[in-house]
Amino acid sequence: MSGPTPQTYDVLIVGGGGAGSSAAQTLVRQRHTVKVFDTQKYRFDPSYILHGLTAADGLSPKEYISKIHSELSDYVDYSVSSVEIVKIEKVDTLFQATDKAGKTYLGRKVILAQGVSHIFPALEGYEAAWGKGIFHNLFSQGYYANPVTGHAGVLGMDLMTMPQFTLHLCHLSNQLASAVTIYTNGNTNLTAQLEPSLVNKPWKTDNRKIKNVALKTAGQPPMVITFEDGTTVTEDFIGHAPISKLNGADFAQQLGLEINQAGDYAIFGPFQETSVKGVYAAGDNMTMFKALPNAVASGAQAAAGVAVALQEEKWGLPPVFG
Ligand SMILES: Cc1cc2nc3c(=O)[nH]c(=O)nc-3n(C[C@H](O)[C@H](O)[C@H](O)COP(=O)(O)OP(=O)(O)OC[C@H]3O[C@@H](n4cnc5c(N)ncnc54)[C@H](O)[C@@H]3O)c2cc1C
Repeated sequence: MSGPTPQTYDVLIVGGGGAGSSAAQTLVRQRHTVKVFDTQKYRFDPSYILHGLTAADGLSPKEYISKIHSELSDYVDYSVSSVEIVKIEKVDTLFQATDKAGKTYLGRKVILAQGVSHIFPALEGYEAAWGKGIFHNLFSQGYYANPVTGHAGVLGMDLMTMPQFTLHLCHLSNQLASAVTIYTNGNTNLTAQLEPSLVNKPWKTDNRKIKNVALKTAGQPPMVITFEDGTTVTEDFIGHAPISKLNGADFAQQLGLEINQAGDYAIFGPFQETSVKGVYAAGDNMTMFKALPNAVASGAQAAAGVAVALQEEKWGLPPVFG
């Protein structure tokens, strides 16, 4: 005897951070049924305060997440499970998601909003200081440094050995500090490439090999850099962007999604549809501008496209937006 037919949701959303929750809210306001899966490991977790998102400026990550989840919990068409989705596949006209325990869920559309994680450089003390004294997004972090007397460091490691990225963080750091030193960790090739751009700017390079980095006091900057020769230097903060990778199982491989040069999902059209019809991407996983306001906006944008597509399919209409 077969069991009860599982519910088919209008939309399955993988990830309940800023992007996934914003997508969910947009969809339930149109009375679409939404199932969100969220393992609740948000990228901003190491931070103690959030900035840059209107009306959420100054909230802690925990306050922000509990606020969005309590807003959504009132909607009858919304449900969330804190399970990890390990597989997504197309089954006839629907999508089937499978969680780690083997439970399956059916949906007409999928929004991937599972975020990204970082691959930190192999440098002692980096991970503990990440988000507390080492910053990659200087629109939201580093604001409290002193732009008149302060001094910032930029770490020329991994992704930041590409001169255009190193210099980009120098500009942003210099808005928040009077002078900037680029620590190349012995990479004299990087120094040679950067030097023409440093002329007449309060920027310089330091080629000493780094032993470790540490917060001077628990939880917040300044940062102390200790070199292999035993010398140290203190910086108000350090600018550095680590390499990122898509979170979760290899949904790209499972669904045949195209990946762009940056390693994010390739998206097409105004609503961030991936290369596979019916699968959309939102948040950090599809843009180089990996910040909360962009994640929230892109969640709503993907959801708007999904809502239109669902209506078109329901009434057998041709796509309005191609
Ligand atoms: C230290 C730090 C501080 C930051 N501070 C700011 C700031 O002040 N202002 C700002 O604008 N930006 C900030 N950011 C950037 C911001 O965190 C991200 O841009 C934003 O969180 C992206 O939202 P998202 O919804 O795409 O991903 P996330 O918030 O990372 O959410 C993704 C969710 O999906 C879940 N998930 C992943 N895989 C699966 C799966 N297979 N099944 C189920 N769930 C899954 C994850 O556990 C997570 O809960 C900061 C980043 C860092 C690293």
